[in-house]
This record gives sequence, structure tokens and C-alpha cells, in this order.
Amino acid sequence: MNRLNVNKTVFKEAIFENIKNQFRKTIDQASNQEIFQAVAYAVRDIIIDQWIETHKTYEQVDAKTVYYLSMEFLMGRALGNNMINLCVNEIVKEVLDELGVDLNVIEDEEPDAGLGNGGLGRLAACFLDSLATLEYPAYGCGIRYRYGIFEQRIIDGYQVEKPDEWLKNGNPFEVRRPEYAVEVKFGGNVRVERRDDGTEHYIHENYQSVNAIPYDLPIVGYNNNTVNTLRLWDAEAIQSFDLESFDRGDYHKAVEQQNLAKSIVEVLYPNDNHYQGKELRLKQQYFFISGTIQQVIRKFKQKHNDIRELPDKVTFHINDTHPSLAIPELMRVLMDDEGLAWGEAWAICSRTCAYTNHTIMSEALEKWPIELFSRLLPRIYQIVEEINRRFVVSLVDKYGQDNERIRRMAIIANGQIRMAWMAIVGSFSVNGVARLHTEILKNEELKEFYELYPNKFNNKTNGITQRRFLLHGNPKLAEWITRKIGDEWTTDLTHLKHLEAFVDDEKAQKEFMHIKYENKVRLAEYVKKHNGIEIDPRSIFDIQVKRLHEYKRQLMDILHVMHLYNELRENPDRNMIPRTFVFGAKAAPGYERAKLIIKLINNVANVINHDINIHNKIKVVFIENYRVSNAEIIFAAADVSEQISTASKEASGTGNMKFMLNGAVTLGTMDGANIEIVEEAGKENAFIFGMTSDEVIQLQHERTYDPWDLYNTNQAIRKVVTQLINGFYAPENPDLFRMIYDSLLNGGGEPADQYFILKDFEAYIEAQKSVDIAYRNQGKWAKMVMMNTANAGKFSSDRTIEEYATEIWHLKKTSVDLTKI
Ligand SMILES: *Cc1c(COP(=O)(O)O)cnc(C)c1O
Repeated sequence: MNRLNVNKTVFKEAIFENIKNQFRKTIDQASNQEIFQAVAYAVRDIIIDQWIETHKTYEQVDAKTVYYLSMEFLMGRALGNNMINLCVNEIVKEVLDELGVDLNVIEDEEPDAGLGNGGLGRLAACFLDSLATLEYPAYGCGIRYRYGIFEQRIIDGYQVEKPDEWLKNGNPFEVRRPEYAVEVKFGGNVRVERRDDGTEHYIHENYQSVNAIPYDLPIVGYNNNTVNTLRLWDAEAIQSFDLESFDRGDYHKAVEQQNLAKSIVEVLYPNDNHYQGKELRLKQQYFFISGTIQQVIRKFKQKHNDIRELPDKVTFHINDTHPSLAIPELMRVLMDDEGLAWGEAWAICSRTCAYTNHTIMSEALEKWPIELFSRLLPRIYQIVEEINRRFVVSLVDKYGQDNERIRRMAIIANGQIRMAWMAIVGSFSVNGVARLHTEILKNEELKEFYELYPNKFNNKTNGITQRRFLLHGNPKLAEWITRKIGDEWTTDLTHLKHLEAFVDDEKAQKEFMHIKYENKVRLAEYVKKHNGIEIDPRSIFDIQVKRLHEYKRQLMDILHVMHLYNELRENPDRNMIPRTFVFGAKAAPGYERAKLIIKLINNVANVINHDINIHNKIKVVFIENYRVSNAEIIFAAADVSEQISTASKEASGTGNMKFMLNGAVTLGTMDGANIEIVEEAGKENAFIFGMTSDEVIQLQHERTYDPWDLYNTNQAIRKVVTQLINGFYAPENPDLFRMIYDSLLNGGGEPADQYFILKDFEAYIEAQKSVDIAYRNQGKWAKMVMMNTANAGKFSSDRTIEEYATEIWHLKKTSVDLTKI
């Protein structure tokens, strides 16, 4: 069975067989989870032959391959996406209908693969979908964490973290590949051996090691027979001897290696845009990098006998600095295993690695202490030292005695290794993720590196896959679009532009708004089921979903809700369209202020939702456990997309693109990709407010901003800020939110109101008023949201990946012919 000859009878039979063989049951005895497993295995069977054929084809044409190295892949669920990309969705739905089973219920049985925190991990997942759809040879390479991003529960308004047991029931799509196992070494020391021929050899000894074992997941291209691979590394202890027959020392070593293996892949670090210099994190990084690099070189050598051809066949793409050990690890393999001299090895390495920068925020930049790094990775440290030494020599050549500049640019300084600097020096390409972000890199944050290497720097504005975030997540809108303009948009999103022909067509407007309404009903049902709150699908759904971070300014959003509520209490008959404010956000478990903002949102929700005097004009909902699977439902239902980060802080954003595609208007600042979104949709079809990034950067330099001035002169601000400490939203403990109050007015180590929430507040209130007014004209509103969908074409990750493939990776499309098998 393959995707081209699959039929209902065969598929139904496969489900019956799977239920019988795996659970010794019939379908009416099986639980929903068991039916999910049976369906997933049947779908996997369809995938397998294409998967084999894809890799056979790549081998035959000896295609250049990109290895996308990432600590995070926020994949979400696989079943629905695989069925859609195989184009067997309809058949499977019909089969299940005949069996009296609801496909949506079965899909809900699958846990999200939450191997990422937020945008960076989801970008990696969208890229894999686009690479397979565009027929580019590619692997994703990452870690098979036992526990992904924590499951968030809200208890008494507080975030409580539960372990994410995503592998509890096994993973039907994964394939263990022990034949590709490699050994990864930690600790110990390096001994130099000088041989008679004068060569020096570096011998790593007294180390601990683990076996790196890959598990492969299929990445199905859309309607094209290509199945690429996401290779996730698991760690196992090396069992090279019989425990019982060894003395205490060996026994201890064996147990230690067992513990090391278990701990490395145990859990994803739950920080988004924040660096935490933990030893285990560095172990994770080296573990999956060493596994990947060694295995890729081994595979390369099976087909090629000149290692200098590596850059013609392989690119390692470094997704943020987390995988940047790829550079010294590749150098180690080329020199210590392959016997190349430094110069030759560097020539290969620096033509093989490319790097994406995701943030300019200093708290996110990885800087490993030398002591920790050199103890854990002694040989790699020697290599980093040598990279730095040679780099500094080249800087001295160029900049002479400008010691300050050389100190600023050195890879090793102040007892730390600056991973971003190493990634820039060791890569042939450095890209930012939206136009503004790349300009800030070139002109501010990485100015001196840009002057040194102007040709390395380039921009690749992020994108999202329309297969998941429209075709799967919003089937009603997807079907309507296809009815209007055909289905080319599934693989060429710029086709959506043809929808512009309908934006003034009243019938089309009504249809579009009716689909939005149905999607709002779907979200309302979800909220009713999970929060027990009734929300009105005729109200404006004003949504902010993303990781909780002060720079993303969820606090500004909830302060505006508090302000609106103050106005309504003063004037209950105030003319306004009812508004439902929806939040969804996980906070890093150690990020105290972020967790307190969640509590604030929930307390505000609790007060407002229970106030009968405001006649349901405002509702506030915090959706628990925001993740890819519920995100799909949320985007489809949004009227207003809150993208309100402090300008210059959000490198790109991708949530903004998902909202736009699904017909929501952006209420946002001129930050990240919002700028390009507004450029595409037209500024009359968005609500833009607040300081520009230039203004923010200038004000930061001036250090003249004092939020007390605003507090003293602006009554709306004074009122909401005071409500943080007068017990209005925490009667039992008026000091509960003092930490938030202090962050706005007094700082605390950092500058007061460092994210300019109060500075932008007035402008935000005005922009919110414009939203209310615009929504009153339903025809005009319909046109606005349709213009957003119609102009979302640029933000497909297919466009982004075409740019990476042609401008950075130089890949060739390689089609898979299924008719031969
Ligand atoms: C798209 C996405 C993100 C990124 O959202 P931003 O608003 O760009 O920060 C985070 N989490 C999930 C689950 C997503 O789907």
C-alpha cells in the first residue's frame, strides 16, 4: 500500500489487523487511544515505502544535503499532518465515519511532540515541512527528550508544571536505528603524542562516554512522495563488559555512565530567549552535535574518498548558538580522526557551517565559563582556544593596536566563551530572521562583525507552513479558499493574492465572516470544556498567545483590560463592542515575574468575569497549556492578533503570521516581522502604535526615561498601576503583585519599566479604541481581515526555505518517483 493506491477497504483492514495484533481486540472493544494507535500504524505503513524510496533516490543522485541542527523541534501532533500531506485525509475520515468513529476525537488522543519552547522550535518544525514539500534533501537533527516542554496547569490562578510524558504510550511513527549508533565522550584529559614522523596526535583519555542512538521520524512532503527524516538522538549507557565480573572501580564507572546517559536526554530546558549556564545543558548540546557530526562524516566517507569535497555535499545549519559546537566538533573529527592539518580542516569547516541568529537580547546570549567548558570538553576547548587565537591574530593584522575592539570581538574573554562570536567566525553565512532584525544586527549589535565580514550577513524572514496552520487547523476556511481560487495555495501561498478580487464582494465577505464565526464557536466550545467559562462568539476575540516574557508585554495587554474595566465601571452604558480577551502562555518555571503576570491575568479574569454589572461586555480567558495542537484552534478563531512587543526586541515572531493567514488583524508595534506584515497587508488593514525601534534604542542610550513622570501626569496609568498594590485584584494579599508594580516604577537591578509598557500605554489605549470603532463597520472589517489573508503569501515557510536553499545551502530539488515501486 502506498499513498497513490490506498483505498478504503485496504485501509479499514489495516486498522482491524493493527487492533487485533497489538491489543487482541476488535474495534468496538478498543479505546480511543487504541484506535489512534491502530490508525497511526496504518498511516505509517503508507509512509514507509516512500521513506525508503526517498533515501534511495538521494543516495543514487548523491544529492547535497542540509542537516538542520536544532535543540528544539516543536512538532505538535503528527497523525493529522501526515494524513494531510499524504492526501489520504478524506479516505481515512470516510473509513472512520463508516466505523462510527470521529477522526477529531482520534486525533485528540495523540500527545503533542513538544520538543521545543516556542517560536524557535516551531520554526524548525515548519522548515522541515517545507523542505520535504519542496523536495530538498534534508535532515532535522535534535534530541529525543524523554520529557518535552512541561504541561501547564492553572491552579488557583497560578501556573503549576507537570512532566510531559509524551512517550508514555510509545510513538507509532518513530524508528530506532541502532546501526547508526556512535560513541560520545565527556571529561577526561587530552594527551599529546609526538610520533617519529614529527606529527602530533591528540589522545583523549580517562573520559566517560555514552552511546548516541538515533530514532528517526518521517517528515512527509505535501502530495509529492518525498519523506525526509527528523533524526532524534537518544543516549544509552555503553555496556562493553559484564558488570558482575568487574571490581568496584569499574562497577562505579558503569553506574556513572548509566546515570550520565539517562540524565542527558531526560528533559528539555524550559527557557525561551534566556540563557542558563547549566552543565547538563552543555552536555546535551555536545551530545547531539557529536552524534550528528560523527555519523554524517561516516556516511559521507562511504561514498566519497576525498574529505575536502564535504562542503559540496553537506551543510550543517546551526539554529541559534545552541548547536554551535558543530564547528569545533567538525574540526576535531577532521583533524583527530581524519588526520587533516588545521588549515585544511578550517577551510572545510568554514565552508560547511551556516548560522541563524535569533535574538539580540543579552540575557539570551550563550557564554560558557571556561572552567566548566574545558573540564567537560577538554579537546573541544583546545580547538576553540586555537580558533580564538588565530582569529585574534587576524584582528591584530587588521586593526593594529585597537585593543578595545579586539577585546570586544574575541571569542574568549573575561573567563567566558562567547558562542555567538564563535558561530559567526566559523560559519560562511550569518542570517537574521526578519528585515528589521537583520538591520539591527548589521548596524548595532553585530556592527563590528558586519564590518569584518560584510558578505556573510543576510536576511531570511521567517515563515510558517500553511499545511498545518490553514489546511489542517482551519479546514473550513481552507475549503472556502479552494472553492474561490483553486488549491494552488497549498504549495504556493502567494496565490492567496487572488482573494483580493473578493474583498469588496458582499457575499464573499459574509461567507468569510461566517467561517470566522464558526471557528469562534469552536474555540468557545473548547473554552467552555477546559475553563468552564461561557464566551460569546459574537464578541471581538482579541488574542495574545505566545511564551510569557516581559518583552512581549502581556502585562501591557492585561493593564489595558484593567483600564477598560475601570472605564466600564464608571460608565456601564459605555458604547463598546463586547470583547473577549484570550491569553495563552507558558512561563519558564524559574521566571518569577512572568509567573506572577499569569497570576495577575487570572485574578483580573476572575473579578471581571464575575461582575454582572458590566453585562458581559468584557470576558477574560487564560487558556491552559498553550501548545501547537490548541494553537491551531486559537488562530482560526481570532479577530485581533496582539503583537505588542517592545520595538527592537522580537526578532521576527511567527505567531503574527499564523493569525494573519487565518484572517485576523494585527494590533501591534513596528517590531520584527510585523513591519513586513503591515507592508504586505497595507497599513490601513492593521492597527500600529507605539515607539519605533529607533526610538526605543535611542531612549535606552539616553537613560532619561522616568516612568514616575507618566504615573504623576496620566490618570489612567496611575489608576491601573495603583490597582496592582491596593488589593483590588488580590484582596486577601494586597502585596501579591508588588513585584510587578516595582518593575514598572522602580526597576530592581534593571531600569524601571525597561520594556516601556507605561511609555506606550496611552498609544495602545488609542489603538484599542480604533479596533472597537473599526469593528462596528462589518463590511469594512471583513475587507480588512480578508486583505490580511489575501496578502499572507510572503509568510509561507516555503518562501523562506526557497531562499535558504538557493542563497545559503545551494541545494537541488530531488524528486521521488513512486511509479517504479
Ligand atoms: C507559533 C508558535 C509560537 C511562536 O509565537 P510568537 O508569537 O511568534 O512568539 C509559540 N508557541 C507555539 C505553540 C506556536 O505555535
